[in-house]
Amino acid sequence: MTYDYIIIGGGITGITAARLLQLAGVERVLVLEAAPEIGGLCRTREINGHVLDTGGGHFLCTKHPEVYDFVFGHMPKSEFNYFNRVSRIEVEGCETDYPLESNLWQLPAALAAEYLRSVSANGEARGLPAPAHFEDWIRWKLGDRIAETYMLPYNRKIWGVSASEMDVDWLHKIPRLDVAQIARACEQRAADRAQMPSHAGFYYPKVGGFQRIFDAIAAPVRDCIATRTAVSSIERSGDTLLVNGRLRARAVINTAPWHTLAASPVFDPATREAIARLRHNQIVVSLHEENYGTDAHWLYQPSESLRHHRSFFIKNFAPHSAAGGLYRETNLKRWQAGQGELYAETNEHAYPIPTLGWARDISAVLRHTAPLGLHGLGRWGQWQYFNSDVCIHEAMQLVQRLGHAPHRAAA
Ligand SMILES: Cc1cc2nc3c(=O)[nH]c(=O)nc-3n(C[C@H](O)[C@H](O)[C@H](O)COP(=O)(O)OP(=O)(O)OC[C@H]3O[C@@H](n4cnc5c(N)ncnc54)[C@H](O)[C@@H]3O)c2cc1C
Repeated sequence: MTYDYIIIGGGITGITAARLLQLAGVERVLVLEAAPEIGGLCRTREINGHVLDTGGGHFLCTKHPEVYDFVFGHMPKSEFNYFNRVSRIEVEGCETDYPLESNLWQLPAALAAEYLRSVSANGEARGLPAPAHFEDWIRWKLGDRIAETYMLPYNRKIWGVSASEMDVDWLHKIPRLDVAQIARACEQRAADRAQMPSHAGFYYPKVGGFQRIFDAIAAPVRDCIATRTAVSSIERSGDTLLVNGRLRARAVINTAPWHTLAASPVFDPATREAIARLRHNQIVVSLHEENYGTDAHWLYQPSESLRHHRSFFIKNFAPHSAAGGLYRETNLKRWQAGQGELYAETNEHAYPIPTLGWARDISAVLRHTAPLGLHGLGRWGQWQYFNSDVCIHEAMQLVQRLGHAPHRAAA
């Protein structure tokens, strides 16, 4: 048989695409997932009564109302708690609310003054043009003092590469800093909550973890998923695509990292080289038990003396989880087992890294593959720092571009 669509990858992108095609009445759809279970980065495990999102901190928040409609159409809004985000930054032995620049007044006076000088003298405020790589961009945006104690070490820790190897074209959504407003916040010793850049609040399931959302979307398409089926080859065969030399489809949607398919005959040498230049990092998520008094949902920890870069206080967003559970995210390059963790899981593909030239490379891949009926979609298929809500939104857009308007309600 010839499938209408084969979807590579059973994470939220692939499963959402399958569900949207099903809602549009497309019947011959097959999802191929390499792992023994679907879910990708949106999986949750329960360990000793602790709800652990094994892909790291996962919260539902979107600027796209249609994404909320889609999610709540599968899992009613009444099954979520809503939280105003409480996240903090631990810098030079002190803690402030996020974002740092709006909350400098929470630091000891001398440090606050140094940081305010740093941000006031930033290149952006002085009208200097935006630099071409991430390290210079951080210095231009926040000044050297904040760059050196917060943003540069934090980014080195999370990405696992130097900021000077990273591009700036993924940062265009970050608003211009209002230096007068930052100074006003210091004077009034209060941040304007409206200045919170993104993610000011979020939804989290009342039962279980983030995977509940994924499971609700996946339930109606379970029958069209094959697990333990890694795709390693795609080739053109007449007017169809042949997957792993045996499965035929009119079109393929790829949500998996492109390098897992790079040996496929469908790629020309230039595309293969572009794929080889795309880089990603690996993040270890480790579960710990500690008594914590904080009300924060999570804490950013830029200090190089700590291996991890973020901690999540589970009980504060999942009150149904056991007491004292927290988890940490650590780049695999910095990870060392045996730090009191109850459990640890490595995400082999965590973040696509926007290294210099990444946008040119992924565009070249997509320009080559789309006319062949092979469509890249989601965090890996489009190689962008997309959260799951954006993956869902991108799936909606692709399915529409492919000519399938959903004709049935989601639930
Ligand atoms: C630390 C961290 C924090 C995050 N926080 C949030 C958050 O708060 N909110 C939010 O909405 N999002 C968050 N995200 C992003 C979110 O996890 C992703 O956007 C989303 O899960 C990506 O889904 P995906 O299906 O595109 O990719 P994945 O979940 O990676 O799924 C890809 C799937 O493809 C499979 N696969 C790989 N290669 C092959 C192959 N060759 N053949 C077949 N299958 C293959 C994999 O096994 C996997 O199941 C976070 C991510 C990380 C890493």
